[in-house]
Amino acid sequence: MSQELLQKLARPELLAMQGYSSARMEAAAAAIVLNANENPWAPVCDCDPDWQINRYPEPQPQAVRRRLAEIYQISEDHLLVTRGSDEGIDLLIRAFCQAGIDSITYCPPTFGMYAISAVIQNAAVIAIPLDASKNWQPDVNAIQKTKSKLVFLCRPNNPTGHTLTITAVSELCARLSNQSLVIVDEAYIEFSPAQSMASRLDAHPNLVVLRTLSKAWGLAGLRCGAVLASPDIIQLLLKIMAPYPLPIATQRLVAQALNDKNASLVNHRIERLLAERERLADALGDCSAIQKIWPSEANFLLLEVADADTLVAAAAQAGILIRNQSAQPGLDNCIRISIGTPEENTVLLNFLQSYRAKP
Ligand code: PMP
Repeated sequence: MSQELLQKLARPELLAMQGYSSARMEAAAAAIVLNANENPWAPVCDCDPDWQINRYPEPQPQAVRRRLAEIYQISEDHLLVTRGSDEGIDLLIRAFCQAGIDSITYCPPTFGMYAISAVIQNAAVIAIPLDASKNWQPDVNAIQKTKSKLVFLCRPNNPTGHTLTITAVSELCARLSNQSLVIVDEAYIEFSPAQSMASRLDAHPNLVVLRTLSKAWGLAGLRCGAVLASPDIIQLLLKIMAPYPLPIATQRLVAQALNDKNASLVNHRIERLLAERERLADALGDCSAIQKIWPSEANFLLLEVADADTLVAAAAQAGILIRNQSAQPGLDNCIRISIGTPEENTVLLNFLQSYRAKP
């Protein structure tokens, strides 16, 4: 990102602030480590002693960062390892939005955390809704007029399942190149045939991409994701991040998980999940309870039903949790179902096929 734009968008007090220098940043290893007020004894919990859980972890784990940069095909200085993409969203809003002054723009129906993180920071939230009749394409003119410092897009979008093209997002980045960061949340991109926007980072210095290991990689419980952006944005986020955000257990398990063998297992599971999604979509097409099935490029389906409240409650009674999306603009009586194992999907299907909405 150009220095000029960074100076214009980032919170000035954060640009001026000297970040905290943690003990682990000062020196990585030595025979005797007495610089962090840690406990010298072996941990009382049952884990591999090599993990050295009595010590503070690396602030940015080298092994994980290197491997994620390889997987996401960008250089390491363009990547920040975070506690899931939720943390990336929060860091970006805190780094760029002055409380009570700045705003974010987002395009509902979409993921709820952009607006929630903004409210927590007391940033204004401007909604420029997507319109199903316009193929869910964002209203670029309206977005540009908001003059928000941050614009959030989600591709594929949760919960609609549609994916904006690289060309459409690139055009938006170009239009907003002097006024906003365009943050593209790609939590579900591995399920889509579309390519990541990561390849466009150098072309668009105001582009930020969010990735996560919670979905396709199946590591939601470890809390690990990444912000991909120009190095000066990464440095600013690092400055405001907690000193030791990623627990050693997470670092070790993620580093272990991201090998080539597991990458092909993950790809195989993605294929199975997509096949299951198509099986469900086909079968639900004949189901009287379902009025519409939205095309999806993610690991979920969005369905329109006659009465979402009643159906979601009946599913819960039958031991199946699905998500009501009716509170989102344009999604009256819509529910989102995540694709489960083939067995779970069959149970869900049987439930929906036998479900009769009360007249
Ligand atoms: N972005 C989107 C679009 C999501 O749907 C979710 C989780 N449901 C997240 C981000 C948060 O993911 P993470 O586990 O990486 O924090």
